[in-house]
Amino acid sequence: MNRYRRRLIQGLSASAVLTATIGCGSRQEASKAVGRVVVIGGGYAGATAAKYIRMWSPDIAVTMVEPNTQFVSCPLSNRVLAGVWQMADITSSYDGLQRRGVQIIHQTAADIDAAKQVVTLSDGQQLEYDRLIVAPGIELIYENIPGMRDPAASDVIPHAWRAGPQTALLRRQLEDMPNGGVYAITVPRSPYRCPPGPYERACQVAHYFREHKPRSKVLVLDANEDIQSKKGLFRKAWQEHYAGIIEYRPNNALVDVDVDKRVAILDFDDVKADVLNVVPPQRAGRIARDSGLITANDKWCEVDFLSYESIAVPNVHVLGDSVMAAPRMPKSGHMANQHGKVCAAAIIELLHGRDPDASPLITNTCYSFVSDKDVIHVASVHKYDGEQRTMVSVKGAGGLSQVANEAEGLMAESWGRNIWNDVLG
Ligand SMILES: Cc1cc2nc3c(=O)[nH]c(=O)nc-3n(C[C@H](O)[C@H](O)[C@H](O)COP(=O)(O)OP(=O)(O)OC[C@H]3O[C@@H](n4cnc5c(N)ncnc54)[C@H](O)[C@@H]3O)c2cc1C
Repeated sequence: MNRYRRRLIQGLSASAVLTATIGCGSRQEASKAVGRVVVIGGGYAGATAAKYIRMWSPDIAVTMVEPNTQFVSCPLSNRVLAGVWQMADITSSYDGLQRRGVQIIHQTAADIDAAKQVVTLSDGQQLEYDRLIVAPGIELIYENIPGMRDPAASDVIPHAWRAGPQTALLRRQLEDMPNGGVYAITVPRSPYRCPPGPYERACQVAHYFREHKPRSKVLVLDANEDIQSKKGLFRKAWQEHYAGIIEYRPNNALVDVDVDKRVAILDFDDVKADVLNVVPPQRAGRIARDSGLITANDKWCEVDFLSYESIAVPNVHVLGDSVMAAPRMPKSGHMANQHGKVCAAAIIELLHGRDPDASPLITNTCYSFVSDKDVIHVASVHKYDGEQRTMVSVKGAGGLSQVANEAEGLMAESWGRNIWNDVLG
C-alpha cells in the first residue's frame, strides 16, 4: 500500500468519527461528503484551494476560516499609495466562494491538534478535518526592531505589507506629508513577500510626489546588497522618471526605530523621515509556527510539492507565502494561486483513493507599475523534478520585459481582475 493510500485510510477513519460542530446544514452535507477539508486563511492560496476543491469535487465538504469579511489584495495595492486607485479597487467579496458551497467562518484559527485532526477557533468552536490546508500568509517579525515591538508602533510607522487598513494609513500619511518631505521605506533581507514590491512602491510614491509634491524625496533603505528583482528595469525607470526624487541605498539594514521622531536607525547611519515605512523581516504565518509546521531556517514550512503536504505534520497542507519555496519560486500571489490549484487537485485524488499528479507544472507572472501607466513584468515556469523531489525552473521559459510599456499596464490591470475572479469567483 503506498503512503497516500495508507494516509487516505487513516484520514477516512477519522472522518467516520466526526462530530458535528459547525451547524445543521453543514452536518448534513458533511455526512454525505467523502471527506472534510478545513482551510485556514482566505487569501490568494487558501481561497483558491477552497474554491477549486468545491468546483472539481462537490462531494467534499470545505470550511474556510478567515477573520476578514472582505478580500483586500496586496497585488496592485501600491497603486492606492500613488492615489491612482482607491481601496475599493483592490477589495472583493467572498460571496462567490459561498455560492460554490464553501462554508466561511469569520474567525481566527487559534490551535491545531494534528493528532486528533481538530482545529480550534478563537471563539472556542472546533472543526474536525480529514485534510487541513494552512495558508496564513506571513507573520511580520518585529523581535529584532525593539522600537517596533509595541503593536501600537505600526499605527505610526506602517508596514502596509498586508493590504487593508495599513494601506489606507500609509496613503493618508503620504497625503498629509508636506511638499519637500522625505518618505523612507526599509526593505528586509530576502526572502520576503513579493521581491519587486518595495521597488514598485518606491516608483508609485515617487510618481505621486512628482505630480503633487515635487520637492519631496523617496529613500529606499535596502538590507540587501542590491535590488532583488527586475534590477535593470527599475534602475532605468528611476533614472528616466524619478531622477532627483528616488535615492537607493543598498546594504542598509534596519537595526531599530525611534518611533516618535520617525527615525530609522541603521548599521552606520540614522535617517529621519516624515513618513517612515518599515517592511520588517517575515516568516510563515503565526498558526504555522505554533503548530510545528515551520521546518526551514526557523521561518518557513517545507512541503511535498506533489500535494503541498507538510513534511512534518501528516494530513496538513501548507500553501502560499508560508511555504519554503524551491529555488527561484517567488513569494507571490500568482504562485500562491498556483499552489492552491495543485493542492486542491491532490487532495481530491487523495480523498478518492488515488495518487496525486506526479508532474505538476506551475507558472508565475509578476507585473510592477513603474509609473501610473507603464509596467514591467517577470515570468517563470516551474516543473516537478522526480529525482530531486522539488520544483525546478524550466530553462528558456518565462522572461523579462525589455522596456517598461503601457501595453503591459493594461495587461497588469487585467491580470488583477482575472486572478481575483479565479480566486474568488
Ligand atoms: C505591496 C505588495 C505588492 C504585491 N504585488 C504582487 C503582484 O503584483 N503580484 C503577485 O503575484 N504578488 C504580489 N504580492 C505578493 C502577494 O500579496 C502574496 O504573495 C500573496 O498574498 C500570498 O498569498 P497567501 O495566501 O500566502 O497569503 P495572504 O494573501 O496574505 O492570505 C493569508 C490569509 O490568511 C489569513 N489568516 C492568517 N492567520 C490566520 C488564522 N490563524 N486563522 C484564519 N485566517 C488566518 C489572513 O487574514 C489572510 O487573509 C504583493 C505583496 C505586496 C505586499
